[in-house]
Amino acid sequence: MKSYRKKICLFLIILFLWLIVAGVDYFYLQQKRTKPNEITIPPTEQTSTPIVMPTNTAAPQASAEFYPPIDQFKEQITKKFFGAYITPQNSPVQPERFKGYHTGVDVEYKDVTADVPVYALADGKIVYSGWVSGYGGVFMIEFNLNDSPHTALYGHIRPSSLPPKNKAVTKGEKLAVLGTGYTHETDGERRHLHFAILSNSRIDLLGYVQQKSQLSGWIDPLTLEYAQQ
Ligand SMILES: [Zn+2]
Repeated sequence: MKSYRKKICLFLIILFLWLIVAGVDYFYLQQKRTKPNEITIPPTEQTSTPIVMPTNTAAPQASAEFYPPIDQFKEQITKKFFGAYITPQNSPVQPERFKGYHTGVDVEYKDVTADVPVYALADGKIVYSGWVSGYGGVFMIEFNLNDSPHTALYGHIRPSSLPPKNKAVTKGEKLAVLGTGYTHETDGERRHLHFAILSNSRIDLLGYVQQKSQLSGWIDPLTLEYAQQ
């Protein structure tokens, strides 16, 4: 009977010790298993992400943008695009008195009765301002495009609102308003903006050229990038 109890006691002690050893072992193994997981979370990557944020890549694009010369600029070019060959017979505007390749774009405001302001597309200087047959009021801005001087022409402007020659202008500045249609202000034309960009800094008031090759003296204004209004 005594030896039987002794055996049970011994068994329990062995079992107890085994449980302790097994428990320690298990704990040790668990720790080993979780350690590599901890290593695969690289804290350096987490801290480096905010530093890499490209805040300056958008800046050159923004500075390359021009200010739309008039509200609804792209949407309202519906009749005469750059380079269109216009004759009195085929013209979308009737009656038509011009013939040739259109050197700019026409932005239409025929049905607008309120004053329609025009804005400086870029920083620059007024290099021409006056009344010219075919336009009524017209002015030109010299500005930089790809680091070289160009000129932009705004035609059919109310003469009394024209900015003075040599005035320095800033991008987005309101400079004048469109002339009233079918009056001396537009030299009898409907209310619209004739907007052209010359490929260098010369002053050239031609609204149409007779040879297609002559269009190289102008740039399609729609190829420039404009800021959203
Ligand atoms: Zn035009």
